[in-house]
Amino acid sequence: MPAVVDGELCDGCGICVEECPMGAIELNDKAVVDEEICTECGTCIDVCPKDAIVLE
Ligand code: SF4
Ligand code: SF4
Repeated sequence: MPAVVDGELCDGCGICVEECPMGAIELNDKAVVDEEICTECGTCIDVCPKDAIVLE
C-alpha cells in the first residue's frame, strides 16, 4: 500500500514534497500522495517532523 498522510497531523510544511525521490507528493494545503507513483520507499515517513505519514 502507498504512503498515506494523516491530514489531522500534517501542517503543510512541504518537506516530504521536496524529499520524495519519485515526486509523488503534492501540497494541496496538506500533503497528498499520488498512489500511482509512490513506490513505498519510506523516505517521506523518515523526514516528516509531524509523523503524519504512514505506510498502511
Ligand atoms: S513532511 Fe509531514 S507535516 Fe510536512 S507536509 Fe509532509 S506530511 Fe505534512
Ligand atoms: S513512500 Fe517514498 S515514493 Fe512514496 S510518497 Fe513517500 S517518499 Fe514518495
